[in-house]
Amino acid sequence: MQRRNFLQTTARCTVAAGLLGTAGVLAAKKKAVAGASVWQIDPEKCIGCGACAYRCVNTVSAVKCFHNFKMCGYCDLCTGFFDPQPLARNAGAENQLCPTNAISRRDVETPYFEYQIDKELCIGCGKCVDGCFSLGNGSLFLQIDQSRCKQCNQCAIALYCPSKAIQKISAEQGYLFKATES
Ligand code: SF4
Ligand code: SF4
Ligand code: SF4
Repeated sequence: MQRRNFLQTTARCTVAAGLLGTAGVLAAKKKAVAGASVWQIDPEKCIGCGACAYRCVNTVSAVKCFHNFKMCGYCDLCTGFFDPQPLARNAGAENQLCPTNAISRRDVETPYFEYQIDKELCIGCGKCVDGCFSLGNGSLFLQIDQSRCKQCNQCAIALYCPSKAIQKISAEQGYLFKATES
């Protein structure tokens, strides 16, 4: 694939991500009652401490990893994907950071790789978020998936969160996404 095609693919992914976000917002709006609010993580405040995976009242946390494709470097050696001390130089499960194999990668143009999150498998542990933030562009972030959140009167994670990153926002607004660098 030529670089121009890759960039077109990237643009399509970005648009797709935007549409997915829009779909989520629209879904949230459908459910929204006038004046209602929803729990959301401020991605700029979250430090990926890992508590979102086990503090949620749901058996499997409503918090999932989201990906801002516009910020992603499409790195071959993605520090959100690979264990910092891989056993070998390959993308096998034994070398991956994610404990549930929720992240998949696809070669889009050597040396660029696209990373996708399977939200059914993601448990919101934040390992990939921390890894991406440490050495990458910080394009992976945690967010409360509105389709899975019970909208508890008091979010159990918010009560605990060490960085006070969880807040209520207008249901009309729906989601807080990570800011895109221009
Ligand atoms: S508890 Fe707070 S800081 Fe920790 S991962 Fe969740 S939102 Fe981020
Ligand atoms: S590392 Fe944790 S937060 Fe990231 S995709 Fe896997 S389960 Fe989700
Ligand atoms: S409001 Fe309840 S269901 Fe939603 S993330 Fe917080 S604890 Fe989980």
